[in-house]
Amino acid sequence: MKRCLKLIAVGASAGGLDALIEFFHGVPADVQTAFLVIQHLSPDHESIMGELIAPHVKLPIEEAEDGKRLSGGKIYFCPPAVIPHVDGMVLRLEPRAKDQSPVLPINILFSSLARTPGSDVPEALSSGDMETVEQIKLLQNELRITRENLETANTYIAEQAQLEKRFEFALKTAKLSWWDWDIETSEIKVQSAGHCLLGEGCLSVERDRGGWMEAVHPDDRERVEGSLNACLSGETEEWNCDHRFLTSEGRWLWVNNQGVVSRRSPDGEPLVMIGTTRDIDDYKRVLLGATNQRDMLEAAGDIAQLGYWDYDPETGELVCSTRTRKILGVEEGADPVLEDAIQLFLPPDDERLSKAFGKAVSEGIPYDLELRCLNANGKHCMTRASGRPHVDSSGKVTRVVGIFQDVTDVLTTEHEMSAFFEVSPDFQATVTYQGRFKSFNSSWTRELGYSSEELLAMHLSEIVAPVEREGFKAILSEVVAGETVSNYETRIDKKCDQCSTCDASPAWLSWSMSSDQELEFVVVSARCVTAQKQGQQALEEARIRAEEASRAKTDFLAVMSHELRTPLNPILGYTDMLLEEIADEEQCEILKTISQSGDQMITIIDELLDYSKLDAGNTKVELVDFSLEDLISEKVRLMSGMLKDRACTLNYSIDWGVLDEKACPVMRGDDGMVSQILRNLVANAIKFTEEGQIDIDASIIEASKGKCIVEFQVKDTGIGIAAEDIDKLFVPFSQVDTGMTRQFGGTGLGLAICQRLTGLMEGAISVESQLGEGSTFKVRLPFDYRLSENEGTQSSPSSKAPSHTSAGQSALKGHVLVVEDNQSNAYYIEKLIEVRGVQSTVACDGESALEKIAEEDFQLILLDLHMPGIGGIETLKRLRQFESQQNKAHAPVIILTADASEDAKQQSIEYGADGLLTKPIRPPAVYEILSKYL
Ligand code: ADP
Repeated sequence: MKRCLKLIAVGASAGGLDALIEFFHGVPADVQTAFLVIQHLSPDHESIMGELIAPHVKLPIEEAEDGKRLSGGKIYFCPPAVIPHVDGMVLRLEPRAKDQSPVLPINILFSSLARTPGSDVPEALSSGDMETVEQIKLLQNELRITRENLETANTYIAEQAQLEKRFEFALKTAKLSWWDWDIETSEIKVQSAGHCLLGEGCLSVERDRGGWMEAVHPDDRERVEGSLNACLSGETEEWNCDHRFLTSEGRWLWVNNQGVVSRRSPDGEPLVMIGTTRDIDDYKRVLLGATNQRDMLEAAGDIAQLGYWDYDPETGELVCSTRTRKILGVEEGADPVLEDAIQLFLPPDDERLSKAFGKAVSEGIPYDLELRCLNANGKHCMTRASGRPHVDSSGKVTRVVGIFQDVTDVLTTEHEMSAFFEVSPDFQATVTYQGRFKSFNSSWTRELGYSSEELLAMHLSEIVAPVEREGFKAILSEVVAGETVSNYETRIDKKCDQCSTCDASPAWLSWSMSSDQELEFVVVSARCVTAQKQGQQALEEARIRAEEASRAKTDFLAVMSHELRTPLNPILGYTDMLLEEIADEEQCEILKTISQSGDQMITIIDELLDYSKLDAGNTKVELVDFSLEDLISEKVRLMSGMLKDRACTLNYSIDWGVLDEKACPVMRGDDGMVSQILRNLVANAIKFTEEGQIDIDASIIEASKGKCIVEFQVKDTGIGIAAEDIDKLFVPFSQVDTGMTRQFGGTGLGLAICQRLTGLMEGAISVESQLGEGSTFKVRLPFDYRLSENEGTQSSPSSKAPSHTSAGQSALKGHVLVVEDNQSNAYYIEKLIEVRGVQSTVACDGESALEKIAEEDFQLILLDLHMPGIGGIETLKRLRQFESQQNKAHAPVIILTADASEDAKQQSIEYGADGLLTKPIRPPAVYEILSKYL
């Protein structure tokens, strides 16, 4: 049987192709042999050898496929990645293992021959024309001989492939594409290794120049066009432009395009341009970020008025921020050379900076200096320069960076503040939260005598006197906690032996403190208040002394008044008694003069006492209910007697205004004060009115909701007062005309007392007068009132009291105990009582009085207040005790006293007295009492 299969192994090169064409050229069309062609191809490549030889052979060409039965008269081309062998004309294609790549065709041929069974041993051919196995063996030998050469070639090819891969990888990692642009046809071809940096599918889009330009970012387009045209026109040799490009994924990618015109027409027209496109997106964004950061740094520096700089010791390059350049007065964009920059500092500061900078560079020592600078623009300024060296792991300084600041204003302010701090006469300091001094002005050392070192070692509280130290510490803790303390006064401890300006007397500071919660320190400002304190103390002492003096004066006046009244008592009493008994006119006149003089003396004593009490502020308004009508009518009744021998009348009227008289209005106020005012005014009116009339008019000028204002007018038709004298009227101790004083008598205190009393009752006093025409004194006083219609008629005790005359005429019964140490007084009172036919017993002190009371019941006891022994008040107390113990009836007790003060009255009532008679005791008053109780 004719051998029917030939294996042919060829290389993929042109030699292999030629050998194959030549081989098949001699093969007849009716040949029964099947031909299997094995080529040397990389597994990735496809063979086009079949297509290439097809025009030159007469036999049909087919693709060799696994399991295909081979037919004679056909050419089969093996695919690259298999090793073929034939089993009974059936083709088996075995995949080539990866490690067999690349594999020479001859190797594959031998593999195939080895695997094909013996009966089917094919004839084999290589690129040459060898038909027999012997020839193959020869070839085998030959091949074996050339194997090394082939392997070398193989290695070379492998290296080429490696190179290709490397190139591909390099392009990929360099993010590079290359392109060529046929300017004539407007066709732009982009070549890219493996992938296109402009995005998947970018290369499949066909575009001309306009198409490409549309994908350029609108903001960059003008710049791209401009630089491209410059290159095309020959203006620039190379086109090099960064711009953003719209990728097929739709994002803007920063690219760098570089290109050159590779071919021009003879007349210089560009025909072809070639170039590369590089992905610079990351770099560009970092660059832009860095620019932004730098801008931000510049802006921040500008706001903080802080310049910065960066020095590279390796290159000697100094990079300055805009503000640094501005402070140095050097031009924008021109970084100064280090040596020139140092020259801008005034000696010796240039030297200081130079040294510090040198140490920073050589030894890595940082610095922070204040330096005077005369900048390049001739401007003097104070600067702060600090430098921080950067040291690498080997200890070498790689950079020095620093800040630079114009601190002229800051320093000026600081100096001003510090000068202010220093010249302040107050004690200024800052203190740590632990109470230690941080800074202080010279007041502390100058005024307190401590040295600076001592102060720095002291706790602030040690300045304070020991007794107040704990309290001060507590205050300081509050300040540390955020409280602000003002004017906290303490005594302080000075170190006087060291102190020139202060003496050893106690000193006070007034502390004001607050804390800075962020920086954690206390601001202390203390003021010396020693002088004020001493002044206050002196004032306080003076006040106490004045009060004591005033008390002494009041006491003295009380005693004097008592002493003066006591002898007047029998003088006036007996005079009154004699006046009733003696009929001789001349003697009566003498007695009247004695009586009037005595009355004047009593008035003077009363006024002095009243004024001194008012002056000492001891007089208080006491509110009681009273009847206005009773008060005025009583006054008229009592004072009418003073008009006895004058052609003058004393009248009164009340205008109730809006108040209904029938509703019996009851006033609430100090009736004693009102009475005293009216007494003074009426007494003056009587004194200065020889003839005519005196009217007391009261009118309710306002009344509403229980409050009313009453105006009292005391009018007379007397001598009047000159206009120029009116201002003097209310001045204490002043009288209009001293000549008149002699004529009319008086102390000049009456109106002053009226004014004071009116003031105490929140009222007002005024006067209208004309010389020779008479005077009108007006007193306006506010009162509370109520209508007592349903309470029965109000009347004062005085209204019920019997008149002098009637009392004098009535016959009385009873036994009166007179307790009086002064014998003359006791005798006089006894006489008065006897005149009324009443029995009396005298006790000369409290003890004997109590004895007598124990023995006998008395219907009335007249008890002197000031007595030796247990005194009037104690006697009264014991009497009331005795009565309650013995279940005895309450015996009426009337206190006799020369002390006309309210206190005496108050005290007597408090201890159980029923009334009070002020000495000198006049017969009418005694008769009144007797009538009341007997
Ligand atoms: P005195 O105790 O001297 O009367 P007053 O203070 O009561 O003191 O009065 C002061 C002076 O005012 C009197 O001395 C008198 O000159 C004048 N004066 C007071 N009241 C009248 C009056 N009704 N008519 C004229 N002069 C008066």
